[in-house]
Amino acid sequence: MIRAIYPGSFDPVTYGHLDIIIRGAALVDELIVGVLNNNAKTPLFSAEERVRMLEEVTGNLSNVKIIPFEGLLIDFAEKMDAVMVIRGLRAITDFENELKMAQTNHKLSPKVETAFLTTSLEYAYLSSTVVKEVAYFGGDISQFVPENVKCKIQEKIIKKESVHQ
Ligand code: ADP
Repeated sequence: MIRAIYPGSFDPVTYGHLDIIIRGAALVDELIVGVLNNNAKTPLFSAEERVRMLEEVTGNLSNVKIIPFEGLLIDFAEKMDAVMVIRGLRAITDFENELKMAQTNHKLSPKVETAFLTTSLEYAYLSSTVVKEVAYFGGDISQFVPENVKCKIQEKIIKKESVHQ
């Protein structure tokens, strides 16, 4: 039984993430999408909101589970009994950081391997940050995120604007 973890912030989940989830889930018995709850970052969505959106968009994938976590990825992997970490690689800019992280994690726990899936070409440019920027300025984000996520971003932005007025 191969259980893998696909960790990230998913603030919010995009079609780029979903592509990695679908392709990753096809390679392993169980894929756990680990939603990082990092107090040092100020996400647009709470961990609970990010988990819920991911659950909504992966409901049709029977071997995918969404679980929030805090702290070291390797501790989470060990707790979940996972032997593999899956990460997506978009461009050369992702590479340096990902390499450092994978090697550090391997030092911390040699049992856990990191596997990289290269992004599908149509999502190579896509990031949660870009999606949020486009949405803030009123741009159409339908091609970047699923419909439920689009609605949640728009609600959040309207709420933020009303607080700042
Ligand atoms: P982090 O906070 O770790 O950067 P993200 O939520 O931005 O988390 O991304 C989680 C993972 O998904 C990372 O491995 C990242 O490289 C990958 N990823 C993000 N966007 C895309 C995309 N458009 N195509 C493929 N992989 C992606």
